[in-house]
Amino acid sequence: MHCIFCRILAGEAEASLLYRDDRCAAFMDVQPVTPGHLLVIPIAHAVGLADLDPATGGHIFQVGQRLAAALKASGLPCNGIDLFLADGAEAGQTVFHAHLHVIPRVKGDGFGFRFPPGYPQHPPRATLDVQAESIRCGL
Ligand code: 5GP
Ligand code: ZN
Repeated sequence: MHCIFCRILAGEAEASLLYRDDRCAAFMDVQPVTPGHLLVIPIAHAVGLADLDPATGGHIFQVGQRLAAALKASGLPCNGIDLFLADGAEAGQTVFHAHLHVIPRVKGDGFGFRFPPGYPQHPPRATLDVQAESIRCGL
């Protein structure tokens, strides 16, 4: 078994587990962006969104929502939360077992998204409409 997260679930690799049910588990990220940064993962190996059972994906989000509330009540510095899932290497995924990051945020923590040049401009409505139609066709 080469997947590090499957190995954690099997008890073959160390992790600080904080939640487990029949469909997902959560443990502390080994290299936290901020203290309390945790990951929620499906028990059944799935690489990304395309092979993640949608009901399990919804469940992972629900558990992430509960853990976000627990983080806020934990005493760890946490004035906000980022939920983040990188799907694919170009989106920043480095571990290819799907996972939802739950990241506590405080003012001045130094974390954030980097926006591309020209980001502040609003595209014309016609452009957005064409893009919306393209996406709608894929539903
Ligand atoms: P990604 O870049 O794929 O969205 O995030 C992968 C995350 O997994 C990173 O935040 C990284 O620190 C974390 N990670 C990588 N290997 C391990 C590990 O062996 N144990 C734990 N707990 N987290 C890991
Ligand atoms: Zn896996």
